[in-house]
Amino acid sequence: MQKIRTRFAPSPTGKLHIGNARTAIMNWLFTRHGGGSFILRIEDTDRERSTAESEEKIREDLRWLGLDWDEGPVLGGAWGPYRQSDRLEIYKKYSQILTDEGKAYSCFCTPEELDRCRRERVRRGESAAYDGRCRELTAAEIARFEEQGRRPSLRFRVDEGELAFDDVIKGSIAFRGENIGDFIVIRPDGMPMYNFACVVDDHLMEISHVIRGDDHVSNTPRQCLVYSGFGWKVPRFAHIPMILGEDREPLSKRHGASSVAQLRQMGILPEALVNFLSLLSWSSESGEEILSPDRLIKEFDFQRVSNSAAVFDREKLDWMNGVTIRNLSLGRLSEVLYPFMKEAGFPVSSVEEVTPVADALQDKMNRLNEIREKAKIFFQDRVAFDDAETERLVKTDDARRVFLAFLDETAELHRWDAELFSTAMKNIQDKTGIKGKALWMPIRAALTGQVHGPDLSRVVGLLGLEKCRRFIEKLC
Ligand code: GLU
Repeated sequence: MQKIRTRFAPSPTGKLHIGNARTAIMNWLFTRHGGGSFILRIEDTDRERSTAESEEKIREDLRWLGLDWDEGPVLGGAWGPYRQSDRLEIYKKYSQILTDEGKAYSCFCTPEELDRCRRERVRRGESAAYDGRCRELTAAEIARFEEQGRRPSLRFRVDEGELAFDDVIKGSIAFRGENIGDFIVIRPDGMPMYNFACVVDDHLMEISHVIRGDDHVSNTPRQCLVYSGFGWKVPRFAHIPMILGEDREPLSKRHGASSVAQLRQMGILPEALVNFLSLLSWSSESGEEILSPDRLIKEFDFQRVSNSAAVFDREKLDWMNGVTIRNLSLGRLSEVLYPFMKEAGFPVSSVEEVTPVADALQDKMNRLNEIREKAKIFFQDRVAFDDAETERLVKTDDARRVFLAFLDETAELHRWDAELFSTAMKNIQDKTGIKGKALWMPIRAALTGQVHGPDLSRVVGLLGLEKCRRFIEKLC
């Protein structure tokens, strides 16, 4: 059996889009499941839009997601180079082979001529494909074009007739050569077109499975033609259905966060995102939804990848992230919260200082960036009440009696922790005869300004005795 070799081949022209991240994840899961090699290839032949910065960001996002690759531009490997701009000589060599074998020819048509021609054909009800007018140019015609200073592109010759390829997810897909027409493989500036470079690379890198979004299904016939032009074996194709926004349009910036970086900034955890994106078009046989990367790898199977488009359900992602947060160890939660706390301006200078906050809020958050609002109560110098209703709670006669008893109970204390707080509350109850909500609500409102929130015994521990007394004194 052929060894599994897959690749993720992003164009470094911007941020890592959620759809592309899902493609990378599917490749990674499939490859790790099968014990193969996963390759990162950078498709940067669009020199104007490609940047080194974007390439680095993509790598960083992949690493953040927890995906690792076995060969790539920086890492190296026996099938390199892995950046298309470093492979131009290779494309030149293979395009020359096509030319020498008469499988490709120089086309001197200008964009204007091509456009005019296309419109005329469409008006006559014919196929919009290129009509092959440069196929049989004479030496004299070529010389004349060259004299005019025209630079040719190289076109691949497509014969009429039906062809088909097999897709692991979509089954057999048939197409007709005449609807495709002769297509460009090398642009006039010498740069290869995607459909050509991709095939040369996939072949030379011995890629066994091409796993990508189904927006590429329309490219695959051209790629199959190039494979057959060279007499090369076609890899297995798996085109994964698109990710749609809730309005069922392809997911884009319009739908809010559409890149991995944005979700990361919002406090989505990598393991939750990998879990969520894996389940967008695949499902576990057990029906379980919270799955670790190890389990995803173990269970991943193309048989269970659906062929219908998946809707990006933000609420579900938040829910999964919340579950993931609750499953984290306190140490790791403190670590991932630390940068969010710093960014929100809280006075913390080490991960250890975050731990009590993390402990108090672990079951109160779906996203890490909620810490900005949720942790405020631990750091305020004056209590700001959520609303007038909450403020009223601390102004009743009963509340005043509770507060006075609280001050009395804590006056002699030199230490302060959850246990001492609980004893104090018990004593206040005995002394005042006030219990339940009437006892707890005014205290919570007085200390936090809110009626809901984390377990009070954790809150008081974080505030410290001095602050607790000061907040309550103020209301007496
Ligand atoms: N550079 C292409 C893209 O980013 C790669 C497509 C493929 O996987 O063949 O869409």
